[in-house]
Amino acid sequence: MTSVHDTAVTTLAGDLSVWPASTAEPRPGDLAVGGVPLAEVADRFGTPVYVLDESEVRDRCRIYRDAFPDTEILYAAKAFLCRAMIHWMQEEGLGLDVCSAGELELAVTTGFPAERIVLHGNAKSPRDLESALRLGVGRIVIDSPSEIARLAAAVGPHGHQKVMVRVVPGISAGGHEKIRTGTEDQKFGLSISDGYAQHAIARILDQPQLELTGLHCHLGSQITSVKPYLAAVRRIVGLMARLHEQHGLLLPELDLGGGHGIAYRPGEQALDLTTLARKVRTELAEACAAAGLPVPRLIIEPGRAVAGPAGIALYRVLAVKRTGSHTYVAVDGGMSDNPRPALYGVRYAPRLVGRRTTADRAPVTVVGRHCEAGDVLATDVELPADVRPGDLLAVPVAGAYHLSMASGYNLVGRPPVAAVRDGHARLLVRRESLEDIRSRDVGL
Ligand SMILES: *Cc1c(COP(=O)(O)O)cnc(C)c1O
Repeated sequence: MTSVHDTAVTTLAGDLSVWPASTAEPRPGDLAVGGVPLAEVADRFGTPVYVLDESEVRDRCRIYRDAFPDTEILYAAKAFLCRAMIHWMQEEGLGLDVCSAGELELAVTTGFPAERIVLHGNAKSPRDLESALRLGVGRIVIDSPSEIARLAAAVGPHGHQKVMVRVVPGISAGGHEKIRTGTEDQKFGLSISDGYAQHAIARILDQPQLELTGLHCHLGSQITSVKPYLAAVRRIVGLMARLHEQHGLLLPELDLGGGHGIAYRPGEQALDLTTLARKVRTELAEACAAAGLPVPRLIIEPGRAVAGPAGIALYRVLAVKRTGSHTYVAVDGGMSDNPRPALYGVRYAPRLVGRRTTADRAPVTVVGRHCEAGDVLATDVELPADVRPGDLLAVPVAGAYHLSMASGYNLVGRPPVAAVRDGHARLLVRRESLEDIRSRDVGL
């Protein structure tokens, strides 16, 4: 049953399907997340600011745990990492997937158990490997032939390290060419079809201090269909069967990576995790039965789908410019805090928050403050026609690949991150200040 009040709220709030579940409209025009009005967050922490709904992050971890009960779930740290996030992942029972000494050291110094961390990367630096071995990282994903000898030497003849091998299943999937990593002709992994993967595996088996626990693949990012994952399972089990024949090898783990797609705008499709879990499990069981292999333990590595929908980027409008055919709404952030539109042509659905308006909606282009014409946050979106300097714009689905990809362009300083929960906001990461920038600059 819907009360008159609910109907009115729904109409005023519009489509909030890509916003955190806690999003509410306490007063007309005023949106609150985690029980905190966004205008209050902007006043307290300044703009631009990233707002992270802690309960939404935790709920997303629980959705994964429920959908994949016997699977090891590793949060892909590169989507967004800070000490609070590391702590939440530990509390929610997830492991971590890191790709640098920096991510790894932050996690371990926050108290995250190193054995539940996997290190991957197509080009690991000596420091990455040194940190991984010193801190006792659970598994290292080998991504190139030269890494095998380097790693074996670093581990030493009496050491021991678990490893996986990243294979390229030869599958094209993902939201944009720049984030497709399952195809043959890109920098990640070792190809199954040309024999590189098999060759690397044979070399690993010659190194007694390296224990090969399984095969790893990551098809790409922002994948909204289950099919590529099923194809990957078949290819990888095919390789496992050949390895069993050739080397008598039975690998206990299969890591299917991440890449689970989410909706950035109302109406966009997200990957259905329950369907993914069910179909992958069935496919894996059937493929293994057909090959006469025991079913390996599944590992997945979601990043975007855990953090993305829990975050909101809040900006203040600085200027509104009307040219011949366009209205440009310029905000106090842009490509330095969100490079994704410029990198992949991603589209967002910003909305005006913090004040009530009855103005009609009109198409505008939301641009950043940076010195590039390509610094566009959202092209041709509808905003109230009376949008003006001083207004607040909120961009939902800003929790992943925003701060982690933020740059120092124009010395604007990277925005802070505030967590909201149960009506309270707290600072997790402070704003990068001019003093931070000055203190790194040590020469003259
Ligand atoms: C980036 C990455 C992930 C996470 O990808 P999402 O699209 O954020 O889920 C997982 N595994 C590996 C190896 C990655 O490089």
